[in-house]
Amino acid sequence: MKIESMTAHEIKKGILDKQFTAEEVVTSLFNRIRDVEPKVEGYITLCEEEALTQARKIDEKVKNGEPLGKFGGIPIAIKDNICTDGIKTTCASKMLADFVPPYNATVINKLLKEDAIIIGKANMDEFAMGSSTENSAFKKTKNPWDLDRVPGGSSGGSAAVVGAGIAPLSLGSDTGGSIRQPAAFCGVVGLKPTYGLVSRFGLIAFGSSLDQIGPFSKTVEDCALTLEVIQGEDPLDSTSVKHEITEDYLSVLGDGVKGMKIGVPKEFFQSGLDEEIASSIQSSIEKLKELGAVVEEMSLPITQEGLSAYYIISSAEASSNLARFDGIRYGYRPDEFKGVEDLMEQSRTEAFGKEVKRRIMLGTYALSSGYYDAYYNRAQKLKKKIKEQFKEAFEKYDVILSPVSPVLPFKCGEKSENPLEMYLADIYTININLAGLPAISLPCGFSKEGLPIGLQLIGPHFGESQILKAAYALEQELKLTDKLPQL
Ligand code: GLN
Repeated sequence: MKIESMTAHEIKKGILDKQFTAEEVVTSLFNRIRDVEPKVEGYITLCEEEALTQARKIDEKVKNGEPLGKFGGIPIAIKDNICTDGIKTTCASKMLADFVPPYNATVINKLLKEDAIIIGKANMDEFAMGSSTENSAFKKTKNPWDLDRVPGGSSGGSAAVVGAGIAPLSLGSDTGGSIRQPAAFCGVVGLKPTYGLVSRFGLIAFGSSLDQIGPFSKTVEDCALTLEVIQGEDPLDSTSVKHEITEDYLSVLGDGVKGMKIGVPKEFFQSGLDEEIASSIQSSIEKLKELGAVVEEMSLPITQEGLSAYYIISSAEASSNLARFDGIRYGYRPDEFKGVEDLMEQSRTEAFGKEVKRRIMLGTYALSSGYYDAYYNRAQKLKKKIKEQFKEAFEKYDVILSPVSPVLPFKCGEKSENPLEMYLADIYTININLAGLPAISLPCGFSKEGLPIGLQLIGPHFGESQILKAAYALEQELKLTDKLPQL
């Protein structure tokens, strides 16, 4: 069994057809993990015993002829900010280094109900703040295509383990690009769903009005399957939306792009965009035209400004969300302290990293009286304008196509001392979160140096099937899914 190159669908089919057992899948996956993980460092926690127990249960079902769920024995890695009952969930922070949740996030319950196998918790930037996974309190994950480069962030672990073939699938979270940018950096598929489509219950909050959980996979088909399982209204998350899926994501994949209207915003192709990325995107555009799509240049004038609005809004929400980590209700508690205030102060001083403190301070400042109108309110107004701008665009286009990141995966340490430069890496992804839209990142080529390049397809609210359809058509043309990094 060549576990590193198998897709989730192939694994599921093999188990169902009794070509191999779920236990064999888990065993060979952990053998590969033992080989490759020391180089990639994508995991914070591995759950081999739990995974084997779950696999044996699934094998029992197969043996007894019982029907299997939609995930029928597929192993999956989970970003370490998604709560897993009885399994440490650290948010890659010293603050939650020993936190073992007593409950599962809704997405985890949905996966387990469909017979998924959880294999481990993936590394990330502390509290999902960052674009390189270098802000983890524990380890720095490497890009599987070049171990001297970052995997992107904040879901860098989730992207790297799929890219490295040490998980066929994973879940991440995306507040401003944290699924799509690492997917592009690691040469895998990553999807950020429409805000409200997937329950956030059990996702440790960063920016609650922006956060969404979504899948990483090798193929668009596997991405569609995962989305189908994790989506749906949840009484435990009042921002989740009741949305009838009129088209089942998997069955419409092959519909093609003939006649599909695709807009390409010119503002996304201006200075700052790497030339190799631009030319790779251009050749994908040509392919889509050959397939019958109508591709047109269009304009989204408010693009640059989104970045400032995002960093104000997300930091404001973070400053409020992270107030619960004080060493009393949650989190790290120092050994010695003099009274409650000293306990809180020491807990937050010692257990939050530099970037998290920067965001809390920025957010608290933006929300403070006298500055609220100047910063927070203005950012909210901009958010509204961005939303309207997309709404107008989607009256004309089915899908919007753009790069994911302006730059190729950068060297470890290259941007870690320059937060503003790091923030600029999100220029093409954050507006989508501000507008609450769905978007997929799809591998579309490689640079001369062999680094992956990603392309972004953005859809209207609940337009997941549109973007999956277009991504699938392009993926079939580009035939990049078999390429694996040498590790
Ligand atoms: N890189 C962005 C940030 O640091 C996005 C993070 C995310 O999507 N979680 O805020």
